[in-house]
Amino acid sequence: MVVKPRYRHTWADVHLDAIRHNIKEIRRRLPQKTKFMTAVKADGYGHGAVQAAAAALQAGSDALAVGLISEALQLRESGIQVPILVLTPALPADADLAAEYGISLTVCDEGWLREMRRHKQSRKPLRVHVKMDTGLGRIGIRHFSEWEAMAPYLQSEDLIVEGVYTHFATANQADSDYYKRQFSRFKEMRGWVADSGFAGFIAHCSNSAAALQYPEFSLDMVRVGAAVYGINPCDGEVKRRLDVELKPTLSLHSEIVQVKYVKQGASIGYDRSYTAVCDEWLGTVSIGYADGCCKGYQGFYTLVDGQAAPIAGNICMDQIIIRLPRYYPVGTPVTLIGKQRDREIKLNDLADHIGSIPQQVLAMITARVPRIYRGAESMSEIISARALSKATG
Ligand SMILES: *Cc1c(COP(=O)(O)O)cnc(C)c1O
Repeated sequence: MVVKPRYRHTWADVHLDAIRHNIKEIRRRLPQKTKFMTAVKADGYGHGAVQAAAAALQAGSDALAVGLISEALQLRESGIQVPILVLTPALPADADLAAEYGISLTVCDEGWLREMRRHKQSRKPLRVHVKMDTGLGRIGIRHFSEWEAMAPYLQSEDLIVEGVYTHFATANQADSDYYKRQFSRFKEMRGWVADSGFAGFIAHCSNSAAALQYPEFSLDMVRVGAAVYGINPCDGEVKRRLDVELKPTLSLHSEIVQVKYVKQGASIGYDRSYTAVCDEWLGTVSIGYADGCCKGYQGFYTLVDGQAAPIAGNICMDQIIIRLPRYYPVGTPVTLIGKQRDREIKLNDLADHIGSIPQQVLAMITARVPRIYRGAESMSEIISARALSKATG
């Protein structure tokens, strides 16, 4: 049965079974004891954060990662109670909120901790992970003196140091030199924390690329986003040598809403951006840049009836115009990402066309595109079951 959204001709199919498959596939290659944190930031890489999280938990994910405290709250409010880590610095004033909801924050600055102390009233403990900058240069402490300044704050009774972590700059590349330098620096910095008397914390460093390329160096937990959503971020050379089968988790479809036959030389689109190269059939499709079909997709193609249907001219806010191989009626499906018969448009193809990465193609799909969840039968039961069994303090 084909479920279609109300009000719109455009929708994204989210394949929850593929998300579950990918997690198991990544995990198969990791040491048994390594915990799995699924990144569901940016609305679950465009899939819907709550649904992606639920599918991840069904597949045995132990924890979730988000970019913002608001994203963590959305998960908590939907009943998810597993550990959630906010990966970017939150506002010090939101420490109570985090403590209240059992949301773990990233700390990497003495000044932040001092400021947080002025705000925190709740007796509930604040859970934190200390971020180490071992070479990405984004966030994290770099020097021992920074750690020394932070440590006294972290010793306070209402703080729990749950973890220490770092993030790699080059784990996707074939050359492992910089990766190895970051990894050994991280182990050294982990030692600072242990030497200051902290115990019982976990150490984690691997993103998708590291979890795929260096599974044996995953330490206590991996933090995986891209690969869960079927994206292998490793360079071609690395990808070819890895024995891992990730499945696409999202496809994007629309429909022809108007069909017309035009004569050679007819102008189409704003600025007359396309001129009909022959007498031909054109279809107008109900998707535009306000849906995430960005201006950069001009010159790319869609699939109609398993064949390529090139985009004609520029992309509008709500619509595009495509060149049809022959007459097709209004209502004919048009695929922008995914398969039709034996042809497939991959996330990578679109990303390459705009000089970007597949993650951005997903993150651009806007909220007004309805997501249709496949394989979701018992999701609410699963959320509550996991929530009960994994309640955090
Ligand atoms: C987004 C993110 C991840 C996940 O990265 P992927 O490459 O999508 O697996 C892990 N750690 C941090 C700090 C991140 O920001």
